[in-house]
Amino acid sequence: MTTPTIAPPDLSHYGRFGGRFVPEALIAALDELEAAFHSAQADEAFGARMSELRRHYGGRPTPLYLAERLSAHAAGPDGAAARIYLKREDLAHTGSHKLCNVLGQGLLTERMGKRRIIAETGAGQHGVAAATIAALLGMECIVYMGEEDCRRQRLNVIRMRLMGAEVVPVTSGTRTLKDAINETMRDWVTNVETTHYLIGSVVGPHPFPMIVREYVKVIGEEVRAELLGREGRLPDAVVACVGGGSNAMGLFHPFIGDTDVRLVGVEAGGDGVDTGRHAATLSGGSEGILHGARSFVLQDDYGQVRPTHSVSAGLDYPGVGPEHAWLHDTGRATYTSATDEQALEGFRLLCELEGIIPALEPAHAVVPTVELARRLGPDAVVVLNLSGRGDKDVDEVAEVLRMVDA
Ligand SMILES: *Cc1c(COP(=O)(O)O)cnc(C)c1O
Repeated sequence: MTTPTIAPPDLSHYGRFGGRFVPEALIAALDELEAAFHSAQADEAFGARMSELRRHYGGRPTPLYLAERLSAHAAGPDGAAARIYLKREDLAHTGSHKLCNVLGQGLLTERMGKRRIIAETGAGQHGVAAATIAALLGMECIVYMGEEDCRRQRLNVIRMRLMGAEVVPVTSGTRTLKDAINETMRDWVTNVETTHYLIGSVVGPHPFPMIVREYVKVIGEEVRAELLGREGRLPDAVVACVGGGSNAMGLFHPFIGDTDVRLVGVEAGGDGVDTGRHAATLSGGSEGILHGARSFVLQDDYGQVRPTHSVSAGLDYPGVGPEHAWLHDTGRATYTSATDEQALEGFRLLCELEGIIPALEPAHAVVPTVELARRLGPDAVVVLNLSGRGDKDVDEVAEVLRMVDA
């Protein structure tokens, strides 16, 4: 028998996706970051510090909760459905999965001897996470945020300022996330010697998608270990919402080799993918280059980024991580979308059946999870990544559901 030769993995590409489409001036910084990451992975002291902070600062591991009333709802009066578990990232510090990534990158920044962090943010959730880690590590933090988003997400602007970050309103273009990204890139090119660009999802030029995934995959590792203990088996399906794709990649990655485990991503369908008013990049976009990598993009015939729409600001991103583009392309993961209306229904289901107010982002994944649980039947186990809590969305939901007097 001959031993098959395994080519060394190309960490910078996922099939034809990924890569580095950036100005020459940034290549050295990307190389430095990659080297720092690999040396940190091999450093036991770094790993120990990260575990310690994840646990005692961040609140990990997060619970895996069997949602019995949601499962019963999926089953219906005379039917039977899978057991639905919720991975409770809403209970982690800062209220979402985002601390996993910023904690890792914050410690890397320190390792590289840099003391200035810059970030872009749309809804403000990643900005808050970046400000949190900068405060914890005593670093300077600048967050670029579209002027329009600053207005819509005032509370998050205040949170960032409370923790000592400088929030810079961006007034160019549409004054939203894509303009903030451009501004952050400009800052990075200018100040690359002293500054780390803390990217907030599994997007951007190599090595970001790989590094961010390595820091968020703790989510799927915890799910895997806990289910093996409690159910004695792996799940039949894992489901997560997809904006840039970090919480989904965190959940999916440890299961990629287990081909019996379905990986299901749910994008923001807005008013419906056929209306053009959505943020469903894999379902309704095409191949292109955004944010320094080849992936799927919502773009027009000239390659210009198209405006996006979603009830949830955190999914309102016109691109998606290159590894998701690859999982989509190879068919290993399936991607579907949920409309604003379905997201609101999912939001209500979790509130009313489980006493959990979810963020609008994971609320998108609830109805698809319920439908899948029904289809898979009573012997199956489905895990839904509850990526964050919904306090930030309560005003928006109250307005849409007309629960407040105008
Ligand atoms: C930011 C955010 C998302 C979307 O980002 P991903 O990188 O796709 O995970 C999803 N859920 C919550 C709660 C968020 O804060």
